[in-house]
Amino acid sequence: MGTTDWSHWGWLGDHLALDFANTVRVEDGRRVDLLNAPADLHRWLSVEPAPLPMVEAVSPTELADFRVVRDAALAVLHAAAAENTLPPGPVGVINDRVRHTGITRLLGSAPGAAVHEAADPATGVVAVVGVCAAAVVDLVAREDLANLAVCHAPGCGQFFHRGRPNQRWCSPGCGNRARVDRHRHRHHPPETALDRTRTPGPRSAGQGTSGG
Ligand SMILES: [Zn+2]
Repeated sequence: MGTTDWSHWGWLGDHLALDFANTVRVEDGRRVDLLNAPADLHRWLSVEPAPLPMVEAVSPTELADFRVVRDAALAVLHAAAAENTLPPGPVGVINDRVRHTGITRLLGSAPGAAVHEAADPATGVVAVVGVCAAAVVDLVAREDLANLAVCHAPGCGQFFHRGRPNQRWCSPGCGNRARVDRHRHRHHPPETALDRTRTPGPRSAGQGTSGG
């Protein structure tokens, strides 16, 4: 498998739980993982703005482990966004990681966000996974879920923070693609999978709010 095209990472800087879960997106109804090689995770760690434990190198086992907990986060966040009961299996995975890495919740420099610190023995990717799991607890435990929503624009499927109650798309780029897609389906018969054109990545046109 090849490594990820890094133009896809332009949206990082949301709540850490969202940045963690948004390492997959949905294209033509199929899930596309953006972390296919240890180098992808290493790169994500280098561009993720949230404070995270230091990681020197990423092994294939660590990548696999990161993805297991990331998938649990996806399941929990999707249930939360749909206002459903949280799935017990993924909840167990997230809670175990927080316990295992002894995460402590501390104040940071700005109000509205906590800083998570792993206990001393936990380092590297293990500690990062613990901090990301704690971020999921942090977000899902909030009554307002930080206005969590899922963008259903073609080629996206990612989580975002709703800026206003009826916001449907994570970015103007996604709103435009969704409108073009709707227009195409109204004026042309459905295409086959073979002649479908690939859409650009989510939020590649920059962040912002857009509805449709
Ligand atoms: Zn989107």
